[in-house]
Amino acid sequence: MLRLNRDRSSWLLALFLLLGVLAPSGSVLWFMNDAARSQAESARQRVTEAYREQLRLLRERADDWWKARAAALDGLTLSGPPPSAFTAAVKAASADSAIVLDAKGAAIYPSLPAAPAADPTIGRPEWDSAQSLERARDLVGAAAAWERLARTERDPNRAARAAQGQIRCLVRSGRRDAALASIQRRFAGSPAAAGRDTDGRLIAADEQLLALHLLQRGDPRFASIARRLAATLNDYDGPPMVSAQRLFLMGEVRALAPEMANFPWSPAELLAERFLEAGPARPGNSSLEATGLGGVWKLTSPDHRVIALYRSATVVSLMERVLAGRNPSRSVRISVDPPGAPSGGEAIAAGAMLPGWQISFALLDATPWEDAARRRTTTYVWLGFAVVAATVVAGIFAGQFLRRQAQLNRLKTDLLAAVSHELKTPLASMRLLVETLLEDERPNALKTREYLELIDGENLRLTRLVENFLTFSRIERNRQRFELAETRPAAVVDSAIAAMRERLQAPGCRLDVELSPGLPTVLADQDALTTVLLNLLDNACKYTPAEKRIRVRAYQENGRLIFDVEDNGIGIASREQKRIFRRFYQVDRRLARETGGCGLGLSIVEFIVRAHGGEVKVESRPGAGSTFRVWLPCRPAAGETVA
Ligand code: ADP
Repeated sequence: MLRLNRDRSSWLLALFLLLGVLAPSGSVLWFMNDAARSQAESARQRVTEAYREQLRLLRERADDWWKARAAALDGLTLSGPPPSAFTAAVKAASADSAIVLDAKGAAIYPSLPAAPAADPTIGRPEWDSAQSLERARDLVGAAAAWERLARTERDPNRAARAAQGQIRCLVRSGRRDAALASIQRRFAGSPAAAGRDTDGRLIAADEQLLALHLLQRGDPRFASIARRLAATLNDYDGPPMVSAQRLFLMGEVRALAPEMANFPWSPAELLAERFLEAGPARPGNSSLEATGLGGVWKLTSPDHRVIALYRSATVVSLMERVLAGRNPSRSVRISVDPPGAPSGGEAIAAGAMLPGWQISFALLDATPWEDAARRRTTTYVWLGFAVVAATVVAGIFAGQFLRRQAQLNRLKTDLLAAVSHELKTPLASMRLLVETLLEDERPNALKTREYLELIDGENLRLTRLVENFLTFSRIERNRQRFELAETRPAAVVDSAIAAMRERLQAPGCRLDVELSPGLPTVLADQDALTTVLLNLLDNACKYTPAEKRIRVRAYQENGRLIFDVEDNGIGIASREQKRIFRRFYQVDRRLARETGGCGLGLSIVEFIVRAHGGEVKVESRPGAGSTFRVWLPCRPAAGETVA
C-alpha cells in the first residue's frame, strides 16, 4: 500500500514536471526563438523598405542620364561629315555604335556600299586615248598619258582615277618603284587624295594597300605606309570613307601588318554593319528601344538623325557605374536588368527611358543582420534555458516539498490508525479479563492469578506500544536525545531479558544467552540499547509460532561489539529484508495484527543503532528463522551527546 502510494506520487511529480514545468518552458523557448527570428526578419524588411525608396531615386537618376545621352546626340550631323558624326555620337552617348541618318531617315554612315555612280570620265577624248593605249598594252605610253591627266585634272575623282591608271600601268610594266613613288606623290595633299571610284571607295586608301602589297615586309617604307593607312582608317574627320571599304582595309592591315592594326572604332563599325544587315535603320522614340538584333538596343536623338546602339551588357554596366555613385552602402548591390532577366532581389521598373527594364537591389552581405539575429537568438535561448532550469529546480523543490508534506500526512494517518487499533486490542482484552474476574462472585485464587498474569501481559504489551509510539514521535520531531555513558553490554542484555521474562520463560520457549567474556564497555545510552534488544526479542517471540528457540549473543569482532538475536521463526523473504526497516512496514499485516505491532519496532531499532554509529542487518530465509545483527563501535569519544 505504502509502495503503491510512493509510486503514484513519483508519477504525479513527473507529470507535474512535464506539464507544469517542461511544457511551458518549451513554449517559452519556442516563442523566444520565434521572436528573435521575426526581429531579424523585420530588420531586413526595414532595410528593404528603405532601399525600395532609394530605388525610386535611382530610377529618376537613370532617366535623367538617358535623357542627357539622347540630348547629346542632337545636332551632331550638323557639325561634321557623317563618319565624324558617327564617332561623335558613339562618344557622346557612351554607346557601342551609332547610325547616322540623312534628313529622310536613310543611313548615311555606316552606309551600305553605294550604288555605282556615273563614270565621270565618259566622253572625254584624252581619257579614251589613255584607256586605248592601256588596252593595246602600250603600258609606257598609257602610264605617261595617265600621268599627264593626273597632273592636270582638277576634279578630285578624275585626278585620283588618272593616278590610279598610271600606277596600274607602272605595276603592270614591272616598274614597282616608280609605282610606289607615284602612290606617295599623287595622294599626298593633292586633290586626288579625296578622289573616289564609281563604288564610292576612297582611291587613295586602296592605293596605299596596293603599296603595302608591292613592298617586302623588311622594306623601310612598309612601316610608314602601313602607319599612314592605319591613320587614314582611324581618321573619321578627313575625306569620308564608306564603312565597307574601311572594314575591308582594316582586315587587310590586320593580315599584312598586325602590329599597326589598332582600330578602336572597328567594333562599333562591325556592330553598325550587323545592325544594318538585319534591317533598315528606323528612328525610334526618345527611349531605349529593342532592335531587330537580339541583345542590341537603340536610342534615337531628338532630331532623328542619329541612332546610338547599345549592347545589353553595356547598358547594364553603364547603369551600374552611373548608379553606383548614388548607392550609399557597400553591402547592397544595385543592378539594372534587361526585360525578362531575373532580378537579383527587390526590383522596380527602371523608368520611362528604359521601358521593360528593372532596377533591383540585393543585399550582398546579410551577415550583419543574421549575426545580430543569431546573437539575439542565442541570448534568448540561454535566457530561456536559465528560466527553464530555474523553473525545473523550483519545480523539483516544490515537488519534494509536496511529497514530503504528503508523506507527513500519510504518516499522521498511519500513526493515528495504528495507535487507535493497537491500543484498542490490549485495552479490550484487559477490560474483558477484568469484567470476567468481577463477574465471578467467588473467584478461586488460581484462576484469579492466571487472569492477572494475562492482564499483566497485555499491560506490558500496551506499555511497549506506547513507548514505541513515544520514541517514534520524538524521532519524528527530532527530539530524541541519547544520554551516553560507559555501558556494559551484559547490563543491556540483562535488562532486556528481564523486561521480557514472562514471555521468554513461558512454556514452549527456550532462551539461550551467550555473552563472550571480557566484553568492553561501550559509550551508549543504556535505555536506548535496551529498547533495541527488546524490540528484536519481541519480534523473535512474535514471529516464531511454536517451540521458540531464541538465542541472544553479545561478542566482539574487529573492534566492534555485536549483538545477535536469533530465532527459529517464520523468516523473511530476501526482497523484504530491506523494507522491514521502513516505518509502518509490515510483511504480513494480518499476522502483525494478530501478534500486535504497528511496523515501528525495526525503524526505531535502526534509528537508535545509527545514532550510536553502528548498523543493523538481518540474515533470514523464509521458514528457517532470522538473525538480527547489531554492530556498535566499541569506543566512541567520551562524554559525547548524540542527537
Ligand atoms: P511490527 O510492530 O509489525 O513487529 P517491526 O518494525 O518490528 O513492526 O517489524 C516489521 C516487520 O518485519 C514485521 O511486521 C514482520 O513482518 C517482520 N519481522 C520483524 N522481525 C521479524 C522476525 N524475527 N521474524 C520474521 N519477521 C519479522
